[in-house]
Amino acid sequence: MKRTIKDLANLKGKVVLLRVDFNVPMDDGGKILDATRIRTELPTIKYLIGQKARVVILSHLGRPEGYDVRKSLWPISIYLSKALPCNVSFCNTVIGDEVKDRIKMLREGDVLLLENVRFYKQEEKCDMKFAREIASYGDIFVNDAFGTAHRKHATNYALARLLPNAIGFLMEREINNLTKILDNPKRPFVAVLGGAKIDTKIKILEKFIEKADTVIIGGAMAYTFLKALNIEVGKSLVQDDCIEVAKNILLKAKELGKKVLLPVDHMCSIGKSPKVYTVSKMLPNMTGYDIGPKTIKLYTNEIAKAKEVFWNGPMGMFENSFFRTGTHAIAEAIAQSKAHTSVGGGDTVATVNLFNLGKKINYISTGGGATLKFLEEGSLPAVEVIQERMR
Ligand code: ADP
Ligand code: MG
Repeated sequence: MKRTIKDLANLKGKVVLLRVDFNVPMDDGGKILDATRIRTELPTIKYLIGQKARVVILSHLGRPEGYDVRKSLWPISIYLSKALPCNVSFCNTVIGDEVKDRIKMLREGDVLLLENVRFYKQEEKCDMKFAREIASYGDIFVNDAFGTAHRKHATNYALARLLPNAIGFLMEREINNLTKILDNPKRPFVAVLGGAKIDTKIKILEKFIEKADTVIIGGAMAYTFLKALNIEVGKSLVQDDCIEVAKNILLKAKELGKKVLLPVDHMCSIGKSPKVYTVSKMLPNMTGYDIGPKTIKLYTNEIAKAKEVFWNGPMGMFENSFFRTGTHAIAEAIAQSKAHTSVGGGDTVATVNLFNLGKKINYISTGGGATLKFLEEGSLPAVEVIQERMR
């Protein structure tokens, strides 16, 4: 078990460098379009201010190349000052005398938000000189940036090697939830996997063939599997270099006695025509963009029988409303299910929010890449580097 902020004694007056993931969608005018990632961070910040720590928050936003006013964290300091019962100030740099002075002036139980760490190219390079400078400003490092934990950057990885450290509540919750899904799922455990690129999901497919009882496959990924079974998929998206992998995954499932469900019908378009067809047998000039009604029934019946469900990857090209039905039906079935339900992945969580079903799902992971990486590997670099809890 990793050390958490609850294990840190005597935080009173200490400067805590808290790395969070405030990588929220924001328009060019600085309006926050979805504050989920800030809201889920508040318990950790409130705990630290309750302990009378002096809290210095570090985060990235987007992928700026150097300073870019549209990627400033300043609007987030305004949000925080409304959401927190303490003084919140903002510093428009991350290193230098101004930061040092501001920290000196910071009172116990108050918060200072520093500017976007990705304005400095040293961040993604995991530059140790940059990290050492920042580390010199604080007493303790707390990492709560789950969404970035699959990366080794200066402020989410290197700082942990330079200061006494711990993880925050969000990181702890994410790790506990995902570990439970891997190690102690309720049964039957149904994993629903979709999305476009099978090559990015091979490891997770293999993992769930091992851990789940049933693996449901939808989205463009399904066509590579169907082609591996010599089923006509027309012009649908297939990754030919993954056909062998798909065959092996199906073979492994058979060996382990696991159920794999593949689409039995599709929503297709022929050529550029936006007209939607439902077919049970595809023709060579058709492209599949969504699962069909029989598949929806097959999949939702299986979900209804589950006690544990994990979902990653849309069932179709949901960005186009013609091909959203399958993803919507699956999201609805998961929301209605009595199982313990979890959803992860950037696009998948976006669809759940699009359908307004977030409240009906037990656990929504705040990570995209980090969530998948954790499920594949069982750990993440920025978590590995945190000290173990004293027994
Ligand atoms: P996540 O971000 O949740 O891990 P992915 O990025 O793997 O999900 O997959 C989402 C993408 O998959 C979407 O852009 C969606 O349009 C695409 N997609 C799903 N099914 C199809 C399909 N049949 N044809 C083309 N694209 C598809
Ligand atoms: Mg995605």
